[in-house]
Amino acid sequence: MKNVYEIAQAQLDRACSFLKLDESLQLILSQPKNELIVNFPVLMDNGEYQLFKGYRIQHNNIMGPYKGGIRYHHEVHLDEVKALAAWMTWKCSLMEIPFGGAKGGIKFNPREHSSQEIERITRRFTHALGGNIGPDHDIPAPDMGTNAQTMVWMMDTYMNNAGQGEKNAVRGIVTGKSVTSGGSLGRNKATGQGLVFAVKAWADEFSFDLSEASFSVQGFGNVGYHAAELLSREGSRLKCVMDHTGSIFSAQGIDPVELLKYCKETGGIKGYPKAEEIDRDTFFSTEVDIFIPAALEMQITAETAPMMNVKLVAEGANGPTDLDGEQLLLDRGVMFLPDILANAGGVTVSYFEWLQNRRAEAWDEERVDQRLQLRMTKAYKTMRSLAREHGLDNRTAALAYSVKRIQVVYEERGIFP
Ligand code: GLU
Repeated sequence: MKNVYEIAQAQLDRACSFLKLDESLQLILSQPKNELIVNFPVLMDNGEYQLFKGYRIQHNNIMGPYKGGIRYHHEVHLDEVKALAAWMTWKCSLMEIPFGGAKGGIKFNPREHSSQEIERITRRFTHALGGNIGPDHDIPAPDMGTNAQTMVWMMDTYMNNAGQGEKNAVRGIVTGKSVTSGGSLGRNKATGQGLVFAVKAWADEFSFDLSEASFSVQGFGNVGYHAAELLSREGSRLKCVMDHTGSIFSAQGIDPVELLKYCKETGGIKGYPKAEEIDRDTFFSTEVDIFIPAALEMQITAETAPMMNVKLVAEGANGPTDLDGEQLLLDRGVMFLPDILANAGGVTVSYFEWLQNRRAEAWDEERVDQRLQLRMTKAYKTMRSLAREHGLDNRTAALAYSVKRIQVVYEERGIFP
């Protein structure tokens, strides 16, 4: 089985061969520009020091400053962050956002640490990154295991290192901050909201009635919850949910708001009284119209894809589908809303947040949502018309459009020196 970075490479190969891309440009795009790894000590609550490994991978910045989230997870590794950074480059280009791509992470399990320890880890990591990030250079954001509070700690640490007269000018060093500390309304739900806008564009194209639809969600974090909540508002029925504690099913439908409340009290979905507990195979094999992976990479594989009985896969996660899993489902006529489109709502509203910080503005939520919907719908249509015109699958079409935009800029600017 290929690892996640090899999967990202294979996807790029497909898009490049369709574009007949110059080999030297493909070579450039196949590796990140910068790979930064820092090992840094942090004081734990018990008085001992622990050493942490942090990454910041800057994939490409020809379209604008590096942009992408910071992940806290015990399985974070170099190849994963490299793949995630490349996907950010494609995502921003597809959405026509003036950013490049980056990703970072720290290899540790935040569930095993107190809030005070996580704050110290975050601040020490930000300090270790130093001048390698900046509001016009590389702008982090939340990802798995991080949230608005993490971003506020990063911002505060960075601000405290800036000169007296520059503190406010560097507020845009991170996006996904709390609204009170300079974040944008609508950013917290943005990835789930963008996904639902993309699903609506698909439903419009195929005259599919979302109020009759059923769906499953893998992962019940920020992306999974908001996608489920917003899709339920369209009248769709949430049948199955999986998280790190187990899987549940209800034929009548699960209320995401109630489930979230339960999760906040108990730490996970396991034992939720208004649904049945099911095993992993039942989770994957339950028939639903829409399947939303919103957890880790490589979940839809040669093992799980044959079990699935779905019409649409809307990728809330980055890289949830491996090459075999994708081919198996494509052969059965399943359509994909690929990650670089389906979860692009997060970075799109990050861009809006960054703009608001630059202009010292505060947009209302309607304005954010409207602009997000316009961009999601436009990107969906661009992808679909390219896919139809050339008989491509959606992922290859989306990636080809994205790489093409980057190619034009490389051709205009040339390669230094
Ligand atoms: N981590 C999110 C992603 O994978 C958001 C990145 C951002 O807002 O910069 O797209």
